[in-house]
Amino acid sequence: MRQSQLFTKTMKQDPQGDSAINAILLQRAGFVDKVMSGVYTFLPLGNRVLSKIEQIIREEMNRASGQEILMPVMHPRKNWEQTGRWKSMDVLFRFTSYYSKTDLVLGPTHEEIVAPLLKKYIYSYKDLPQYVYQIQTKFRDEIRAKSGLLRGREFRMKDLYSFHTSQEDLDRYYEVMVQAYKNVFERVGLGKITVLTFASGGTFSKYSHEFQTLLDQGEDLIYLCEKCMVGVNREIIHEQNSCPNCGDKNLKESKASEVGNIFKLGTKYSLPFELKYKDEKGIEKDVFMGCYGIGPSRTMGVLVEAFHDDKGIIWPESVSPFKFHLLCLDKEVIKQAENLYKQLLKRGAEVLFDDRVDISAGEKLVDSDLIGITNRIVVSKKTIDKKMIEIKKRSAKRAELIKEKELFSKI
Ligand code: ATP
Ligand code: MG
Repeated sequence: MRQSQLFTKTMKQDPQGDSAINAILLQRAGFVDKVMSGVYTFLPLGNRVLSKIEQIIREEMNRASGQEILMPVMHPRKNWEQTGRWKSMDVLFRFTSYYSKTDLVLGPTHEEIVAPLLKKYIYSYKDLPQYVYQIQTKFRDEIRAKSGLLRGREFRMKDLYSFHTSQEDLDRYYEVMVQAYKNVFERVGLGKITVLTFASGGTFSKYSHEFQTLLDQGEDLIYLCEKCMVGVNREIIHEQNSCPNCGDKNLKESKASEVGNIFKLGTKYSLPFELKYKDEKGIEKDVFMGCYGIGPSRTMGVLVEAFHDDKGIIWPESVSPFKFHLLCLDKEVIKQAENLYKQLLKRGAEVLFDDRVDISAGEKLVDSDLIGITNRIVVSKKTIDKKMIEIKKRSAKRAELIKEKELFSKI
């Protein structure tokens, strides 16, 4: 893509009213536009990052036998009354249709839709287990929507729901999901700083688990075993005051942000919707459920909080909006830069080409650092004279001069 054609521009000044680094950098670099507190437009660059995060999640959910669906955002009040959450859920957005006078909900989560959906298809033990998921926009009336993408009132979520004949089968699949989540956070570049954290469970298990990314800006407090890289959530630290893995009592209080959450629901939502199946003997039994969430938009904010410097964002390559940022620094060599751009595209590379003619070399370099694409390629009079191409990783201090052939081998 040509930067001259990108309708967004970078901002020199910090936006007003935001203190979270992810909110500041993502707006300044042109990834998101804030419509109101906790509500954002994803601009071309931001939408590319979000889509890449969601694609990684999709691939891992498919690998764990997930079947992708898309449930509605708008729900009838009736479903939420059946579970009691019409009254009890504090963050629920409720509204009334002007014409039909019916009460509606903007979905904050989808147990109320997915349980009655599966009820239409599950009759016997032969119909189980099932795993369905979606990647969807969720709505929650959050009180503190002040940390940019970390806490939206409208945000993205991947939610997978599993359906089982027994607690044992639910336990088995739960471990499959733990591994799938580890794969996701590894692939988006958060593997080393994201820890499995023990949180309170429910009727059907002692614990649930959160995937917490260690972050100074995080809103959660966890107790971390640095040997095992396993955490304990603040809410259960009194009943579990040692590492659940090695028993060590030396836990370090750490700030973190919850990027994922997995939970054994058991029959909590099967009961209100009478979600049952017939076993081998024809006896009717309750279906066991699990639910597994990841926040792609929060993950995007977490990535910026974790990977930036005083010049801007430093995207991990797997979610970088483009793999290469090609800068033409001198008007005199625009032809050579154009030629390189075409060669890269022909070879299938993802390139943002800063072909702007009225912008100084200095400004282009500043913009490139702010946007944070993983690899910067520079074409200038100097590089052309040397018959070389300059390449620099955003995270590296120094640039390297390489031959065109070597650059093509990096695609
Ligand atoms: P929190 O404790 O941070 O409010 P939660 O326990 O309410 O999170 P879940 O209901 O488990 O979150 O949602 C699943 C995932 O969705 C979370 O792990 C998180 O990544 C993401 N998420 C939840 N609330 C928000 C939000 N307001 N903005 C952005 N992402 C969110
Ligand atoms: Mg919440």
